Amino acid sequence: MTDASHEIASAKLIAATAIEERTDDLIRLAKDIWNHPEPGFREHRTAKKTAEFMRATGLEPREGVAITGVVARLDTGRPGPHIAIMGELDSLIVPEHRLADPETGAAHVCGHNIQIGNMLAAAVGLSNPAILEKLNGSVTFMAVPAEEYIEIEYREGLRDSGDIEFLSGKQEFIRLGELDNVDISLLTHAEPSGETALRPGTSHNGMIAKNVRFLGRSAHAGGAPHLGVNALNAANLAMQGIALQRETFREEDRIRIHPIITRGGDAVSSVPANVTMEMFIRAASVKAMKDAETKVDQALRAGAMAIGAGVEISTSPGYMPSKFCEELNKIYDESVVELIGESALGRMPHRTSSTDMGDVSAIMPAMQSYAGGASGRTHSNEFEITDWDLDVVVAGKALAFTVMSLLSDDAKRGRKIIAEFEAPFTIAGYLAALREFRQRESWSG
Ligand SMILES: [Zn+2]
Ligand SMILES: [Zn+2]
Repeated sequence: MTDASHEIASAKLIAATAIEERTDDLIRLAKDIWNHPEPGFREHRTAKKTAEFMRATGLEPREGVAITGVVARLDTGRPGPHIAIMGELDSLIVPEHRLADPETGAAHVCGHNIQIGNMLAAAVGLSNPAILEKLNGSVTFMAVPAEEYIEIEYREGLRDSGDIEFLSGKQEFIRLGELDNVDISLLTHAEPSGETALRPGTSHNGMIAKNVRFLGRSAHAGGAPHLGVNALNAANLAMQGIALQRETFREEDRIRIHPIITRGGDAVSSVPANVTMEMFIRAASVKAMKDAETKVDQALRAGAMAIGAGVEISTSPGYMPSKFCEELNKIYDESVVELIGESALGRMPHRTSSTDMGDVSAIMPAMQSYAGGASGRTHSNEFEITDWDLDVVVAGKALAFTVMSLLSDDAKRGRKIIAEFEAPFTIAGYLAALREFRQRESWSG
């Protein structure tokens, strides 16, 4: 062993021991959040608990970033890369879950509570002068609101009142400049594989969201349908049009389009005149997202045209496609081998779901790892955390070790990752692209 690698090995031991000493506190907090789920931009209690833990660890958190975000920076005092370790604050809403909040239906069925746990575990491990003196650069611990793209009406209200511009937490963090000086981002998500594994993800679909309203004319549905214009029929035809476009979607684009009808009519004896739909259009690249969107809009107009109805299409940016940094994944793998062994290694294949970690991956090298200590279908009533030690403590150590690998030895490896990364977007370009997705169209033939 060289002197440098010997030094970093002993620093890792110090970090791991510090995390182990706080195991009970860390798991208690992750369980407390699990038991008190709060959906996006409403995570006030979760944020308060997170900030309290940061203060007890000697950090000085800033609160109220993008409504509920909490941010604390740890600086070595020497120049070098700036790494963000992120944890998501928000829950989902699945009232059927055994721990769902009786009033709001909120439940942590994506396991974001363990992310706050493993982010804080990494903070515990790195907040030590004996470790910081061996590193260059800085680390910011970010508790970020609202990853799940839900409660759109509530969030549009926040947008209309000027509290947010974009509907997710990381998008708002980027808009507010919180990631302006960040070079690399890391996050560890829960995964219901039940395996003792920490596997980085490779890529995710991005998405666009649409709210659609078909406008017809009401009339007696039995006595005088010839005097009406049936908006439900227009919506039906539009959905057929979308379905018939599926043969044009290429396998590699991984297109997923899933519309729902949120209002199908008002009274069965009256021709539906006001029918609303919501849908996500997901794809593996921005180009494929836009291509599929064009076809969806054609189908929506065609449905309206055939029936003689009108259609209003309101489009919002969803998330950018995720593409995680493989060089970063490989450095993380080294920590996984040190902590668990080769059996814990692997990669999550491309996922057709979407996350705003994709937006982060569009502007800097990013990693999203998956900790296997959960069971049941994600986003369902069956989801449970099964291995708190893996998801909080071991995952936290892996994040801390990865930071140490990137920032030790004059941060050589961190600097290399940054130098070699080709960002799909600058921050300004990303924000412009996001704003370009926002469209409103009123079509009436
Ligand atoms: Zn989720
Ligand atoms: Zn999630």
